[in-house]
Amino acid sequence: VGASRRPPPARVRVAVRLRPFLDEAAGASEPPCVQAIDSSSLEVANWRNYQETLKYQFDAFYGERSSQQDIYAGSVQPILRHLLEGQNASVLAYGPTGAGKTHTMLGSPEQPGVIPRALMDLLQLTREEGAEGRPWAFSVTMSYLEIYQEKVLDLLDPASGDLVIREDCRGNILIPGLTQKPITSFTDFEQHFLPASGNRTVGATRLNQRSSRSHAVLLVKVDQRERLAPFRQREGKLYLIDLAGSEDNRRTGNQGLRLKESGAINTSLFVLGKVVDALNQGLPRVPYRDSKLTRLLQDSLGGSAHSILIANIAPERRFYLDTVSALNFAARSKEV
Ligand code: ADP
Ligand code: MG
Repeated sequence: VGASRRPPPARVRVAVRLRPFLDEAAGASEPPCVQAIDSSSLEVANWRNYQETLKYQFDAFYGERSSQQDIYAGSVQPILRHLLEGQNASVLAYGPTGAGKTHTMLGSPEQPGVIPRALMDLLQLTREEGAEGRPWAFSVTMSYLEIYQEKVLDLLDPASGDLVIREDCRGNILIPGLTQKPITSFTDFEQHFLPASGNRTVGATRLNQRSSRSHAVLLVKVDQRERLAPFRQREGKLYLIDLAGSEDNRRTGNQGLRLKESGAINTSLFVLGKVVDALNQGLPRVPYRDSKLTRLLQDSLGGSAHSILIANIAPERRFYLDTVSALNFAARSKEV
């Protein structure tokens, strides 16, 4: 492929998803902090002064009635075909603990989220596009890792220690030693993914019983071989990431170890914000190397990659400060 002029680096698209009140009675007695204006903008009432509102605009806004299918079809499915052309992509769920990141990414058997939907479609696409007689053959593998206190841990091989992130001469990011499992069906995927999810480092906080203090990173790689001369090879990587909670841990009653942990979590999220900001403003320096998360995503966020950040927010008033901070993070990330 000709190394001609590179296209300008792609923006990171930013969507916001508001979850419904979990307790309907609470929804009836308390006005939601957040109001939709249209399909891409919303306003937040200042909790001290309801006359005062903040308006935000994003690439997409999914209101409390939006379904898993709406988010998937609107923001994720359209990028899958690029993977089969050898491009990379990433989907990141951001937001405070309890706002719906895991629901959006993983969901439940009744309401499957982005991860199962993307896996099924991607496997289907590779089957169709890679059928006998078509120019390319595809094989799909998965890796699953966690970034916890700036350490990279292999969730498919929990005995392995902190893994090192490297870059090859073509700018591809690699993690030598990271487990890669071939998958040909959704059942294969579940067989590796479900037990590994139990290996995640989780801790109870006052805010949420299973608050995630780590970034859960699922990597799905599509290896591609051309069947006829010139027998080119390429790969497309898809990162599906359930980020650590964005809440300010000084407010959630965390002490000691928990407080120390939150420092590292906030550093990664802080650098992520700076990276997305630099990409979307076209700044000359993008500080990928300043955190493990962004270093890992260096070849899959910006550049020729297709990326979307989904900021999850909650309607309850007790989330107000975290909601405004998540919206500010996402809005800043959106500026052109
Ligand atoms: P997080 O991963 O950000 O901590 P969760 O995804 O665990 O948040 O969501 C917190 C709770 O809210 C869960 O019980 C989840 O099922 C529920 N929930 C989140 N988003 C939605 C939604 N869009 N519709 C219905 N329930 C939701
Ligand atoms: Mg979660």
